Amino acid sequence: MNIILIGAQGSGKGTQAQLLAERLGLAPCASGELLREEIANGTELGRAAKDYYDRGDLVPDDLVVGMILARVRDLDGAVGIILDGFPRTIPQARMLDEQLASLQQRIDAVIYLAVPREQLLDRLSHRYICRQNGHVWNTKTRPPALPGICDYDGSELYQRSDDAAEKVAHRLDIFFGETIHLLDYYDRQGKLFQVDGTASPEEVNARAVTRLMALNGAAISRTQEAASQ
Ligand SMILES: [Zn+2]
Repeated sequence: MNIILIGAQGSGKGTQAQLLAERLGLAPCASGELLREEIANGTELGRAAKDYYDRGDLVPDDLVVGMILARVRDLDGAVGIILDGFPRTIPQARMLDEQLASLQQRIDAVIYLAVPREQLLDRLSHRYICRQNGHVWNTKTRPPALPGICDYDGSELYQRSDDAAEKVAHRLDIFFGETIHLLDYYDRQGKLFQVDGTASPEEVNARAVTRLMALNGAAISRTQEAASQ
């Protein structure tokens, strides 16, 4: 079972990807990490992507899809993937569908973590990060015990410059502008599941798992079994 997770910055997507991977026995496949790994390993695809990446340019879609396919091929169909960060556009989604079909694979479900724009803005503008280890805190939803100090390592908390309200608003505009088309694309394929992302991470996870089990419980059991071996 292959899943795509879609959510805006601040929607809790990273946490959900991790929880779903653990609970369903899926291989996490975050496009950004995949890219850094391939470059670090000096694979053919990694070498082709490196120049774009180093310049800060977008890496061409066919290279990213190639990396995803390589991961799927490595897993040999025994364990599904949970994709995060890709696709973002309809042409990317089409290319991914076509290439997966060449491996007799497909995207089975797309989960959209729905969080209203205002709430995302609010969450992100209260986000603070610790200097030492990058632990994430939120002065509203998850405050540290002592203001401005990380509970884990005692280091100072700061706000990333790109978490400034104006920049966050711009990124959210781009996200919603792109994503609405993508959601429509997967909805027409009957694969889209919208999960209310405003609840606690555990609650959001439980809802997503329930929806996926209802969709294909047998495939999930198989993939859990394969992953535990
Ligand atoms: Zn810390």
